[in-house]
Amino acid sequence: MQYQYTLKQPVEIKGIGLHSGCAANMVIKPAPENYGIRFVRRDIAGEMPIRALYSNVVDTRNCTCLGTSPQNIVSTIEHIMSVFYILGIDNALVEINNPEIPILDGSGQEFLRILKNEELEKQNAPRKFLKVKKEIRYEDGKGASISLFPADSLHICFDIEFPSKIVGHQTFDKEISLDVYSSEIAPCRTFCEKYQVDYLRSVGLIKGGSLDNAVVLDGDTILNPGGFRVQNECVNHKVMDTIGDLYTSGYYILAKVVANKSGHFHNNEVLKRLFSSNENYELL
Ligand SMILES: [Zn+2]
Repeated sequence: MQYQYTLKQPVEIKGIGLHSGCAANMVIKPAPENYGIRFVRRDIAGEMPIRALYSNVVDTRNCTCLGTSPQNIVSTIEHIMSVFYILGIDNALVEINNPEIPILDGSGQEFLRILKNEELEKQNAPRKFLKVKKEIRYEDGKGASISLFPADSLHICFDIEFPSKIVGHQTFDKEISLDVYSSEIAPCRTFCEKYQVDYLRSVGLIKGGSLDNAVVLDGDTILNPGGFRVQNECVNHKVMDTIGDLYTSGYYILAKVVANKSGHFHNNEVLKRLFSSNENYELL
């Protein structure tokens, strides 16, 4: 049997919010057994912590955003959630002074580096696993889909296809382990096309966005002077997003995930379908 873990001590992580461009300071604190991962805004008086659950997701357009009211929202939780998952952090309270989790370099690398050096505390409750019992599928009718199949561990098979020749068709197909995550997934940054950047800027978003926290593609070229960090950086980043989003199930999901061009929206939809009937899964 595996046990739940939390941090031994609070950890502070500072950065900027991708959209606001404002300082985003976050303190991750230990939490009791069965608390799960919760986020609380410290810049709004009296707001309750929001549990990082698929049912509290209110926006999936550019990131995964949790909320309980129009003002009590916390966005871009997916990268830090993937790091909580891979390090086996079951319980934590994340305090944040901003609507956004710091973007850092757009990858999971900094979160992983900081949290890997922290001592964890073993707790007195068993870790919560969820075993998928049959195929759970969501497809959007526009060519993107995600399926969860029964398996004994988390395995992700992901395909993307982009018009830009520098990306083109990329595939990831592996069991998710700390080794694979650290070397192939954590370094992978968010990516976008230059025309999207221009549009988002024009509507007042991504004020904190730069080549320091995203891969920006312009047609068949990459604008970042250092190029890609790892082979297949784009699809591997999608794998990181998927790991973080699936952790909003509140469980360590045992499934083979087969994803095709999917994103935060599809990840949320497949979880809603998974939890729509208790015949779809078994809690271990
Ligand atoms: Zn991402």
